Amino acid sequence: MEPQHVTDQNIETQKSSTKRLADKVAVITGGARGIGAAAAKLFAENGAHVVIADVLDELGTTVAKSIGGHYIHCDVSKEDDVESAINLALSWKGHLDIMLSNAGIGGPEGRSITTLEMDRVRHLFSINLYGTIHGIKHAARAMIKGNNKGGSIICTSSAASIMGGLALHGYTMTKAAIDGLVRSAACELGEHLIRVNCISPHGVPSEMLLSACRRFGHDDITPQGVKEMIGSRASLLKGKGATIEDVAHAALFLASDESGFITAHNLLIDGGHTSADSRMS
Ligand code: NAD
Repeated sequence: MEPQHVTDQNIETQKSSTKRLADKVAVITGGARGIGAAAAKLFAENGAHVVIADVLDELGTTVAKSIGGHYIHCDVSKEDDVESAINLALSWKGHLDIMLSNAGIGGPEGRSITTLEMDRVRHLFSINLYGTIHGIKHAARAMIKGNNKGGSIICTSSAASIMGGLALHGYTMTKAAIDGLVRSAACELGEHLIRVNCISPHGVPSEMLLSACRRFGHDDITPQGVKEMIGSRASLLKGKGATIEDVAHAALFLASDESGFITAHNLLIDGGHTSADSRMS
């Protein structure tokens, strides 16, 4: 193969294709609010046709309308629901290019391993892990059957998956399992040009994190408070905590062809937190 050189022509081509997801079709689970909603807006701004799949019907419908997309009620713990969300994308546009398997829940689950609430742990697995399995399985089927141009599957894991000090045993297990699943799925699906990656945020002031902070005794916590707490605690970036947009931009990169040679990767969006300190009280 000839070596590639930067030319005026390919720079011009890049400038003219500012829509990084032009005509791509995406399904986003957990897209009604938080990280998923931010990704849905960013994907649509970049030219994607987006199906939002969530259990929060009112919020999900509002977000979908605002971006010219579709909403479908989908409990990711139910395989049929996830298949229906993918089928909606296929019947709408005829193909699927991007799956952002993002729906997830946090605690409470009991902070000590000695008092772990097993029903809660099973519930966490049914949504966080099984929901992700359903997403990868049905997105991969659609992408393989479809236009044969491959696709990008992105799963929202968590920095918690590689940390041990959060006292979130069940949640941590579900996210660590997602990391493993992403690696094994990527190994199989590469031959179909389907890339499978994780994004692993930390400390994003979404509703999920705010309610977790309240459970940990920070009753009056605000989004700004979360940013300050995480930023001052362990982010390597002085005073900066994560935003939902930071995570959405990472998802956009992995969804776009710019990341065409990246698969089986776990992209941490943690301000370096996991390199700094893994304890949290
Ligand atoms: P969020 O609570 O704002 O969003 C979660 C979304 O998932 C909601 O829209 C919710 O309705 C949806 N959802 C929950 N259960 C569902 C189900 N059974 N079926 C379909 N949808 C369901 O929180 P978020 O922070 O935006 O969370 C998004 C993802 O990011 C989750 O997977 C979460 O574990 C992960 N994450 C978040 C953080 C953080 O700091 N906020 C850190 C690491 C990972």
